[in-house]
Amino acid sequence: MPKTQSYPEDAIPCLDRGFIRLVDSMGGDDAIVQAARVSYGKGTRKMSQDRGLIRYLMRHRHTTPFEMVEFKFHAKMPIFVARQWVRHRTANINEYSLRYSEARDEFYIPDEEHILFQSKLNKQGRSGEVPADLKKKVQDYFRDISDKSYTIYSELNDAGIARELARAVLPVNLYTEWYWKNDLHNILHFLSLRLDPHAQYEIRIYAEAMAEIVKKIAPFAYEAFKDYVVGGMRFSSIEQARLTEKLPDGVIDDLLGDAMYSIVATLHRNKPRNEDELFPLYQKNGGQDSEEDFQLKWSAGEIEMGNVRELREFRLKLEGLKNIR
Ligand SMILES: Cc1cc2nc3c(=O)[nH]c(=O)nc-3n(C[C@H](O)[C@H](O)[C@H](O)COP(=O)(O)OP(=O)(O)OC[C@H]3O[C@@H](n4cnc5c(N)ncnc54)[C@H](O)[C@@H]3O)c2cc1C
Repeated sequence: MPKTQSYPEDAIPCLDRGFIRLVDSMGGDDAIVQAARVSYGKGTRKMSQDRGLIRYLMRHRHTTPFEMVEFKFHAKMPIFVARQWVRHRTANINEYSLRYSEARDEFYIPDEEHILFQSKLNKQGRSGEVPADLKKKVQDYFRDISDKSYTIYSELNDAGIARELARAVLPVNLYTEWYWKNDLHNILHFLSLRLDPHAQYEIRIYAEAMAEIVKKIAPFAYEAFKDYVVGGMRFSSIEQARLTEKLPDGVIDDLLGDAMYSIVATLHRNKPRNEDELFPLYQKNGGQDSEEDFQLKWSAGEIEMGNVRELREFRLKLEGLKNIR
């Protein structure tokens, strides 16, 4: 078993012998904006901010502009990780051929920290600390089977047996490598599934490294992905009904009221108005408080600001929740 490990210069090491590196990319946030403007038109005033536009596209799952950005990765991973990875069907892949080339003596041995018991709650997960002697046994078995299978494989190779057949004696912790090319929309879909805590640790590590690379190339898109996809949450109609049934009456109204104030404060920040224009602006945006209450709250100066479009969408969602009652 080789004792030292060398990686290509720009690679991010993953697991004990794997890595991922960016080979090439085309476009970034600018390519998303450029494509989106074809459909929305250059002069759309409210779409003038690139970041805002990208966030809008992500929120509304208008995904095709994200397909304009391309990434080509070079990755090396155990075959059982590749088996999960390859299920993401939209990528173009070219893999190291064990029909053409000899397998290398490179096998994944899990580190102690990640040897855990089968989870009782999650059939696709692990949890529960394993005693040190059992951890060592697991590692020994991984090493034994790797060494033994590689010895047999080499013997078959030396005897002239076809490589495409001899490889079948090798276990799935053998490392393979490939070039993997995909567009940003599908990469983010991959990341949404494989960054998730439910994804297997061994593929999550690659997803985390890939995410770091994506973040550098398309920072606004990645930020929007984190906010609206990774950090977002969707409620089914059944869950919405439960929520509205249990939430005290005033809670949605309070949130709704705060959203109206936030809309006015943000509009005012973006384009300052005269004092006497603020209450009419509040009413125009659906505000229900009296002018006296409005002035009191406004002068207290504790109004949170945000993105007007997003706040209006929030208001619509809250109104939707109220209508379920
Ligand atoms: C935690 C976890 C557990 C899993 N467990 C299992 C398991 O036990 N068994 C198992 O077999 N798989 C399992 N998978 C794999 C999973 O079912 C998907 O195959 C994998 O996540 C790829 O997702 P995808 O099909 O959305 O992605 P992609 O193949 O990248 O496709 C992207 C999107 O394109 C569309 N698309 C692509 N191809 C087609 C097509 N032919 N027809 C229609 N639409 C298409 C779909 O909308 C799809 O969502 C698991 C995945 C995860 C993350």
